[in-house]
Amino acid sequence: MYTTMAPMLVQAKQEGKGIPAFNIHALEVVPMMALTAAEKNCPVILQASVSTAKYIGFHLLTAVVREVVAALEIPVALHLDHAAKLEDISAAIDSGFSSVMFDGSMLPMEENISRTREAVAIARKASASIEAELGIVGRGEVTGSNPYTDPDDAARFVAETGVDALAVGIGTHHGQYKAKTNINLDVLKAIHEKVSIPLVLHGGTGVRDEDVRTCIRLGMHKLNFGTELNVSWVRAAKEVFGAAELNESLRGLMTRCNNAMADTIRKKIDLVRF
Ligand SMILES: [Zn+2]
Repeated sequence: MYTTMAPMLVQAKQEGKGIPAFNIHALEVVPMMALTAAEKNCPVILQASVSTAKYIGFHLLTAVVREVVAALEIPVALHLDHAAKLEDISAAIDSGFSSVMFDGSMLPMEENISRTREAVAIARKASASIEAELGIVGRGEVTGSNPYTDPDDAARFVAETGVDALAVGIGTHHGQYKAKTNINLDVLKAIHEKVSIPLVLHGGTGVRDEDVRTCIRLGMHKLNFGTELNVSWVRAAKEVFGAAELNESLRGLMTRCNNAMADTIRKKIDLVRF
């Protein structure tokens, strides 16, 4: 069933479990993602970056997700990942996304608060859920400047914005898949003591399995996995397409790539639903 993100995260928090959030990179993977989560009886967040949502089209993506999940018993939310512009938040909400993330993490604290409040107002009008970010999640394999979220800032940010979930910087990186990150669990612990809403792990691919579970125990109930899913599809594609005859059905070739991604999805679900 199509639903919003906030109640899923509240329930996950009560149960001490995580909700996986899988990044859609193309429309082709949407049915496979939803059906794999349903097979595992796992509530799931399907999320798209602004670039992906624009590539597919906000309305088309919403229509497909709604249609695919209508008959499923698991809750499924469609979430816009890392929107830095309010116009993109509005486009997603207007097309029927049930959840959005406003990412003002690159802005000074005061501006991040005020812009996030505007995004919250847009989401609330449509009864949609909203995630925001404070601190820095790196990109790629290298570490930037101090990425850590200040726990006191996080408490104030949540109180003043009223968001449903908060992404925090604990040393993770987007796009990382070649090595694992040494995350700062002390920072997470300190944030967890001061913030009661569900926290969000970005860059989940680069985090060791045991650390993912510790993150859940320390209040992270939305766990984002994008890169590893993409890697498993592309790795299969290199092999499958490389060996294919030119007149072979594209359907069959893509199904094998989807199956490889589905295996990774099952592993991530087992990781967060322990
Ligand atoms: Zn992210």
